[in-house]
Amino acid sequence: MTKPRVLRELGDLMDCTICLEEPASPIHSCANGHIICGICVDQVKKCGMCQTDLHVSHFAERLSRQFEFTLPCRNQNCGCDEVVAAAEMKNHLQKCYFRYVLCTESKSGRCDDAKVPLKEYGKHLQERHNQITGDAIYFWMTVLGNKETAEKYMFELKVFKTLKNGKKVEASWTIPIVAFHDRPKYVEDSPFYAVVPVRMVKEFGTQIESENSHQIRFVTSYRIF
Ligand SMILES: [Zn+2]
Ligand SMILES: [Zn+2]
Ligand SMILES: [Zn+2]
Ligand SMILES: [Zn+2]
Repeated sequence: MTKPRVLRELGDLMDCTICLEEPASPIHSCANGHIICGICVDQVKKCGMCQTDLHVSHFAERLSRQFEFTLPCRNQNCGCDEVVAAAEMKNHLQKCYFRYVLCTESKSGRCDDAKVPLKEYGKHLQERHNQITGDAIYFWMTVLGNKETAEKYMFELKVFKTLKNGKKVEASWTIPIVAFHDRPKYVEDSPFYAVVPVRMVKEFGTQIESENSHQIRFVTSYRIF
């Protein structure tokens, strides 16, 4: 795509002085007009070129919107092929399916791979964090989106089993959905967690014979509403 004439004449004057890309919003600049993009600005306190303070540049923002600056997603190397409006890049990065996420178990020291590609996170959890420790299993539910998206939904988890006498037993929990990585701290009776006591896991679960570990499989269904 050829750039509009004005942009060609602007040359690299509008590029971020740190990542050298067209700047993602909110675009910052210093008193001398050096540009720092909204992503790089999180890593610096002052302009790297002249050490003066940074502020949001409404002028640069206006140019970015008027000339519809676009950028390939920063996670291009990891597989994202989206081209995003520079003004929307920060939003996109928070939702991008190819971003790295912090494993929720890393805070408690139970994971050495703090950052995991989101698209492999499910596999990571299954392979690395599949042990029951303590006296219950805690479920919470996140959505790959922001708070506004999360607040629209509830999650219901149901576990069930048909006993030998043919009787069916079931239990269910309904919890709100939270935004990805807004995992609420667990407190007793937290409304954000479905707590399945180990006793119930044993009651509803079926023991699977396996060589070096005890595995339990249990039948669940869920509903998002
Ligand atoms: Zn930058
Ligand atoms: Zn400067
Ligand atoms: Zn992306
Ligand atoms: Zn982990």
